[in-house]
Amino acid sequence: MLYARLSVTKEESVSIARQLLSCRRYAEARGWEVVGEFIDDGVSATASRPEDRNGWASLLAATDFDAVVIWKVDRLARRVLDFLHADEALQKRGAGLVAVEDPIDMTSPQGRAFAVMLAVFGEMEAEAIRARVRAARAQLLKDGRWAGGGVPYGYKSAENPAGPGWVLVKDPERQPWLAEMVAKALGGATVNAITTWLTAAGAPLPAGSLARRKSGATAWNRQTVEGILRNPVLAGMTPHNPGRPKSAKRADPLAVFRDEDGEPVVNDALAVINAEQFTVLQNLLDARSTPQARKRSERVPTSPFLSRLVRCDDCDVFLCRGTNQKRPVLYCPTCRQTMSRSSFDPYLVDRLLAERGAEPLGSSTVAAHWAAVGTSDTARREILLTQLESLRVRRGVVGRYFDEDRVLLRWRAAGGRQLTRQR
Ligand SMILES: [Zn+2]
Repeated sequence: MLYARLSVTKEESVSIARQLLSCRRYAEARGWEVVGEFIDDGVSATASRPEDRNGWASLLAATDFDAVVIWKVDRLARRVLDFLHADEALQKRGAGLVAVEDPIDMTSPQGRAFAVMLAVFGEMEAEAIRARVRAARAQLLKDGRWAGGGVPYGYKSAENPAGPGWVLVKDPERQPWLAEMVAKALGGATVNAITTWLTAAGAPLPAGSLARRKSGATAWNRQTVEGILRNPVLAGMTPHNPGRPKSAKRADPLAVFRDEDGEPVVNDALAVINAEQFTVLQNLLDARSTPQARKRSERVPTSPFLSRLVRCDDCDVFLCRGTNQKRPVLYCPTCRQTMSRSSFDPYLVDRLLAERGAEPLGSSTVAAHWAAVGTSDTARREILLTQLESLRVRRGVVGRYFDEDRVLLRWRAAGGRQLTRQR
């Protein structure tokens, strides 16, 4: 048996795929046959006991295995007691625990003592991480300081009037340009049109921009413009991933600092638009980008087909659109369960057409409308909405993977609802 876990925070994690690969190689090297692989994705080991995780629980429910291979002890448990309980549960089944990266051997007293020691260190490390995150967030909220990475366009850093360090303030020179960019985008202008306008009008480039440093050039480029329009600071929110690698082209606009209730922390003094306008702006940018200009991996996740339509069955909140290892997923902003969209979306479309295709809609049928709107995800969403009573997703046994049992779908009573926007 192989077991892998990926926690909620990504930076310090080794991907599920890599963990499993290491485990498979280990098993192969020892001449063991792998009879099952179990994962918990997006699950914190600090916040959950192993037996409360779906992946680990279904591993324990399986029979006929002699060993469980994990990548490291901390994948299984961050608390000593949890670790010992998990090991005990395996012993009862006559199975032993092995870690690829940690030299654990639960068959001898020395090996056992060493494994406990490793678990102790895992526990200490988890507590240290929690303390760091708490302290950083508290400090940030307390003095309103900027921790969202580089200074965004239209803003500058200023000495914090209320304490140590620096805070973000509006840059009077560039704010009018920023406001005009946002207004144009909300008015329907494309990123290209705005880029051309900025260059023609001689708008000041971002301070310290590469182009300016290089040659005193004054031309804007569309990546810069799109990055500015996608920055949550426009709505007074702070991006939550300042350490995001440079290779990630677009930040997830939903990844912002949130308070304990999960609501974004908003600094009104920095906002150019409100949160709703920001969402509208993001949708406009998604819709306006030509598919050819975007990679497939970037295009699929932003599909608005299931936007604010699927709820988490545990938390009763709408699932958000995002990516996991560049694959499109829906995720719960509260409990972080994820659902792969590459299987989920086609499954829904199949069921819609098979079970509701013949339902009357407008002057024809659901299926006819579906055929007529082509590939417009927004129009498809409208059609799905006319038939849907409720659509909920619950946690999977094996993490983010698609599984019909996770989908709780109820159609409306016969007749459905009419389209709100006739085309
Ligand atoms: Zn949830």
